[in-house]
Amino acid sequence: MHAKEFSARRSRIAATLADRNVDALIVSAAPNVRYLTGFTGSNGRVLLWPSGALLFTDPRYEIQAAQETDCRVKIARGTLYPAVMKAAAGRKFRRLGFEKGRLAYEDYEQLQTGLTLGASLVPLAGAIEAQRMVKSRGEIELIRRSVETNSAAFERAMRRARPGVSERDLAAELDYQMRLLGADGPAFDTIVAAGPRSALPHAHPNATTLRHNQLLLIDMGASQEGYASDMSRMAFLGRPGLKVRRLYRAVLEAQLAAIAAVRPGARSEQIDGAARRVLRAGKLDKAFVHATGHGLGLEIHEAPRLGKGQKTPLAEGMVITVEPGIYLEGFGGIRIEDTVVVTQSGSSVLTPTSKDLLIL
Ligand code: ZN
Ligand code: ZN
Repeated sequence: MHAKEFSARRSRIAATLADRNVDALIVSAAPNVRYLTGFTGSNGRVLLWPSGALLFTDPRYEIQAAQETDCRVKIARGTLYPAVMKAAAGRKFRRLGFEKGRLAYEDYEQLQTGLTLGASLVPLAGAIEAQRMVKSRGEIELIRRSVETNSAAFERAMRRARPGVSERDLAAELDYQMRLLGADGPAFDTIVAAGPRSALPHAHPNATTLRHNQLLLIDMGASQEGYASDMSRMAFLGRPGLKVRRLYRAVLEAQLAAIAAVRPGARSEQIDGAARRVLRAGKLDKAFVHATGHGLGLEIHEAPRLGKGQKTPLAEGMVITVEPGIYLEGFGGIRIEDTVVVTQSGSSVLTPTSKDLLIL
């Protein structure tokens, strides 16, 4: 990422503070701190105001912060919020915005303790997340690399998928290959779900072994240079029967219909509706128990959400997942998921992995 990009991001957020009726914003969430400064440490806060910004961290990160960010850095001992509040008081800020969805109650108490007479705290929601929805060209390139690493890891690791291998072993292999190929690690806990366990949308891999004539669901994503990828693919061990093939085709058609609906200006719920309509035609809509997708970037789940009632219009540069699925207790589940970028004319699927049911 170009160093100038971080200061440009800070300036754009800073320019919205007057409209939000605050003098400054206290940034708590690590991905937001990273987005604004490039700092990747686990303990960082930012104080941002129209003409400047300060990054607060502790002595463990002094060298790292100097290497990673062009933002002014304050090294504080102990908890960071008292130092943040002292800096705010010194600049006589009266209305201080804070991230209401990203703060523990005891952190809020620390902010309150640091208020000077006449100053107040203003809860804000999604101030930075709204800007993060639309990715820069540099960010899209990083997501593309993460997607490619993820797909390459899938291809390598699946060579070891055979009857007798446990879900846990296969998940470890997927994670290992990801790291070998350049990922910092998985973006979320890798899902490997065999047979009827694939009906659990977020199954945690266990000692269950892969068996003949069963479905296998893999949902995996890499985190690389901070950016996430996300993909779900299905395999079958043996020759799939008519029911599996029929269900697989229905989910694939739903996924393709949803991708075809992605374009700038489309409301998020329309993408979800396109997938749901296909599944309803096959009387499978009741088995589709989650939203069709989500934004991703520095976090695996970001705005916008692609679900019922979600009105956020898509815009060029957003990166989302499209992942309809059906889950039938006792039988299994089928989910197909790609990482997709919204382009000027529609969309581009970043995930290179084939969407044919993988036969093992
Ligand atoms: Zn996923
Ligand atoms: Zn996902």
